[in-house]
Amino acid sequence: MRERFWERYSLGELNSKEWEALCDGCGQCCLKRRVEKGVVTVYGVACELLDIESARCADYANRLRKVPECHDLTPETVPKYSVWLPETCAYRLLHKNLPLPPWHPLLAGDRSRMRKKGVTVSHYAIPSGRLSRRQKEKYVVARWPVSRLRQPGVRRGHPISH
Ligand code: SF4
Repeated sequence: MRERFWERYSLGELNSKEWEALCDGCGQCCLKRRVEKGVVTVYGVACELLDIESARCADYANRLRKVPECHDLTPETVPKYSVWLPETCAYRLLHKNLPLPPWHPLLAGDRSRMRKKGVTVSHYAIPSGRLSRRQKEKYVVARWPVSRLRQPGVRRGHPISH
């Protein structure tokens, strides 16, 4: 990987190793979400393939085939998906020409700092199971309008208390 590539190259200029290293492994994009009537709602409910403890996909190579609603992040799709990607997502940050946070593993050296800060979903996500839509409403962790205006009392991309 090229030195501090995240500061020197755009998403489309990254090689595959750099692209994968950019993901901080927070798992926030692996939470169930709904986009309806111009509002993004994120639930603290994990995708069936998410290993909650490690906040990693348990079958990354086959995820798109196994989970039809899974999204493939590419330089072309990130601009469109940045509507629902969490504010801390490194792909979204680079797309917006914003710096990586100091806890990002590329800067901190490993994931311990982001774990301490509670950025990974490991401490609050629950398995998907068979929750009805009504049951899922109890696990809303973030909600924001697609227009990107925040709603009062709800922070984007971070859990809210129940
Ligand atoms: S939200 Fe972004 S940084 Fe976090 S796991 Fe998903 S792709 Fe990686």
